[in-house]
Amino acid sequence: MPDGSECGTEASTELKVGGFVPLSTADWPGRLAAVVFCQGCPWRCGYCHNPHLQAARGEAMRDWHSIAARLARRRGLIDAVVFSGGEPTAQASLRSAMLEVRGMGFGVGLHTAGVYPRRLRRLLPLTDWVGFDVKTLFSEYDAVAGVAGGGRALESLHEVLESGVDCEVRTTVHPDLVEARTLRGLAATLARLGVKRYVLQEFRAQGYPDSSLRAPQSAGYLDEEYCRDLASLFDSFEIRRV
Ligand code: SF4
Repeated sequence: MPDGSECGTEASTELKVGGFVPLSTADWPGRLAAVVFCQGCPWRCGYCHNPHLQAARGEAMRDWHSIAARLARRRGLIDAVVFSGGEPTAQASLRSAMLEVRGMGFGVGLHTAGVYPRRLRRLLPLTDWVGFDVKTLFSEYDAVAGVAGGGRALESLHEVLESGVDCEVRTTVHPDLVEARTLRGLAATLARLGVKRYVLQEFRAQGYPDSSLRAPQSAGYLDEEYCRDLASLFDSFEIRRV
């Protein structure tokens, strides 16, 4: 999978948008944000809740200029825009969209799984907050993301942490995909890397494409003692039940 200028979507001049939410309080905690769902992601996580956004082109794609016009009309109602996905950094045109949003006076948030580390490095100076998805141990990414993308994710996480941009690292937890022992090892790795804020997001079966994962046997997986141990590794730790 190429990064930077070798990427097949690099030539695009306009951000491909697969969805838009005009107001969210959940996508950038503490901020009133609109969310722009970017089309395209090269990974294939079994629990992806936006599988319609994985393809580079989607049936429900929207024109960026119409989205930008809607954002401009929301000045005073929201204070930020989050670029989510899909994988927003898959599109080179994300940078110009971020610049446009900054020009409107909004804060810029970015959801990423760290698929394109070199491109992410260039975007971080335009970014005020990152929600960074870590799938599992970096050596075991193919088991969750369907590709051996852990090296890219680790490189991207280094970029985010070195940039000093405000960051929340989160992992979607499902005992069939990320065992309790694996999750403990991952948390220790993240703490060693310098992650300060870590969030576990509980798996949601609703709208789920992989039928084999629809009935999680999660009893005891996130019990109190286990979570207390994880929490001790970070300045801030949360289990988000969505
Ligand atoms: S990286 Fe995100 S958008 Fe891409 S397949 Fe995984 S969950 Fe879906």
